[in-house]
Amino acid sequence: MNKFDRLSTPQPQIGFVSLGCPKALVDSEQILSRLRAEGYGIVPDYDGADLVIVNTCGFIDSAIAESLDAIGEAVAENGRVVVTGCLGKDAERIQQAHPGVLAVTGPRAFADVMAAVHEQLPPPHDPFASLVPPQGIRLTPRHYAYLKISEGCNHRCSFCIIPSLRGDLVSRPMGDVLGEAERLAAAGVRELLVISQDTSAYGVDLRYRTGFFNGRPMRSDIEQLAAALGELGIWVRLHYVYPYPHVDRLIPLIADGHLLPYLDMPLQHGHPRVLKAMRRPAATERVLERIRGWRERVPDLALRSTFIVGFPGETDAEFEALLEFLEDAQLDRVGAFTYSAVDGAAANALAAPIPEAEKEARLEAFMQVQAGISAARLQRRIGTRQTVLVDGSDEDGTLIARSPAEAPEIDGVVYVEGASAALGDFLEVEIVDASEHDLFARVA
Ligand code: SF4
Repeated sequence: MNKFDRLSTPQPQIGFVSLGCPKALVDSEQILSRLRAEGYGIVPDYDGADLVIVNTCGFIDSAIAESLDAIGEAVAENGRVVVTGCLGKDAERIQQAHPGVLAVTGPRAFADVMAAVHEQLPPPHDPFASLVPPQGIRLTPRHYAYLKISEGCNHRCSFCIIPSLRGDLVSRPMGDVLGEAERLAAAGVRELLVISQDTSAYGVDLRYRTGFFNGRPMRSDIEQLAAALGELGIWVRLHYVYPYPHVDRLIPLIADGHLLPYLDMPLQHGHPRVLKAMRRPAATERVLERIRGWRERVPDLALRSTFIVGFPGETDAEFEALLEFLEDAQLDRVGAFTYSAVDGAAANALAAPIPEAEKEARLEAFMQVQAGISAARLQRRIGTRQTVLVDGSDEDGTLIARSPAEAPEIDGVVYVEGASAALGDFLEVEIVDASEHDLFARVA
């Protein structure tokens, strides 16, 4: 065991075994720094440790054997062991050799290691950090919260500069995301809004490695994450879901009530050539077919999307095809924008920019078609019973609420007259009327 000073305060104590090359040693230093910054103590023996971290090496066979031996020793001497480092890439091998290991994380997975430590051994009370509530500081009302599952994006859509600003996709470890979600639910949040730049790509950068939550191993992918979020017993709404084929696997989770019957799926266009020029993810997937299949399984699935009209080179025929796509897709809610050049975006260099007046005319035509579709879809809901979540009330005392088909801020609302309820209450209502954007209901 490396030699670190024992601290005299009654802090949670961590033992640390550091193996391998100087890079691994630097990783160990990073982890130890984070542990110390959060107030954990570091001890030089197994006996005094509440938990032992083993930073492994997996370079050559003898290093692997040494790492497995070190893990075995820590399990035998202490019993509560978290493994990290290069050998962590082969979690299955470690768990086969030492099933008692609490968590396995890979090289440089500092956030994962900290999440595993937090799960086993909550950080000590810090009078400064403790001024912040466990669910963190939020800017949303207390009954709903945004849950960011990743940062950055692996795509390079030609109109977008987000990847150059935020970098490639970095998914948060499962344990971190689920821990935050659990704290939010415990703090009274009734609805989680899952966000990222590309929600269905969650875990790609982690190579879907095994993550841990409450001791449970889970594959780091959107299906497992969504399933685990769905077990919290609150509303879970997914935003920015691109229609990759594996999104089909989320539909059973929606059908069985784990997730709200709602997908926010930014499509941006309906014509294959324009989508290709936009370099959109999932541009070649059969979106209409996929939507049809989803709706067969979940008839009340609400779909929201956004589109760009007047993309450089968009011909009249391609724009007409976009309108036809809208008619076929029958999306519930749609936002649309005219194309505008962003400094640094590749699309700026494309030929045949559309004149401003033409872009505006196309936007108007687009909105007219979609307004009719959205209004008709709202009309179809008259007479149905829905569960709504109360967001507040207007000056006349009418409750302002949302059903599973409406996300806060971006969609319409359900007005419930003649009822009283508190912010964050669920109500059963019957829809009695609809306007172009909103619904009107009474308590059922
Ligand atoms: S628009 Fe494209 S590049 Fe930009 S964040 Fe979304 S998927 Fe990524």
